Amino acid sequence: MVVKKICMMGAFAVGKTSLVRRFVHSIFSETYQTTIGVMISKKQLSLDGQEFELIIWDLEGRDEFTEFRSSYLRGVSGVLFVVDVTRPQTLTVVRQLREELHDQLGNVPALILLNKSDLVDQWRIDTDTLEQLEQEGCTLLRTSAKTGANVEEGFQALLRSMTA
Ligand code: GDP
Ligand code: MG
Repeated sequence: MVVKKICMMGAFAVGKTSLVRRFVHSIFSETYQTTIGVMISKKQLSLDGQEFELIIWDLEGRDEFTEFRSSYLRGVSGVLFVVDVTRPQTLTVVRQLREELHDQLGNVPALILLNKSDLVDQWRIDTDTLEQLEQEGCTLLRTSAKTGANVEEGFQALLRSMTA
């Protein structure tokens, strides 16, 4: 069994905790619960016949991030950045976090999850912006913690890029 630490990163209320709960426990809740400090979950995954254990760190998504940052990111093998597609500002936050991560650790395998993609009528991020991100080398995936769409695929894709 190969153990890998990954971190969820993104603004407040984008769905980081919901994605982890959907992935690890197959549940979703409409009730908002603020994550206090750090929640650490484990999940086993297999990739190309090899067994992995993902240790998933999920931090309270607020400005306190700077305080936690060094211990939070210690030993991390991959990052899932999470955007709420109904709030463009959350993409700006992810851009800043990507830069900070790069400054601190260089190239770390990462994926941007465009979460809440089930809210099609409230989608507020235009395709130009998404194309630009892809040109910058970002891998994007539309997810929904609510319906479960692409959630497992997101973690799988990150694991694949971590082992490539
Ligand atoms: P966090 O602060 O990033 O951990 O965000 P949470 O996981 O706590 O979610 C914030 C709110 O968004 C909660 O009310 C969730 O029910 C809701 N939410 C999370 N993911 C989705 C999603 O994919 N679709 C919809 N419609 N709501 C979501
Ligand atoms: Mg949370």
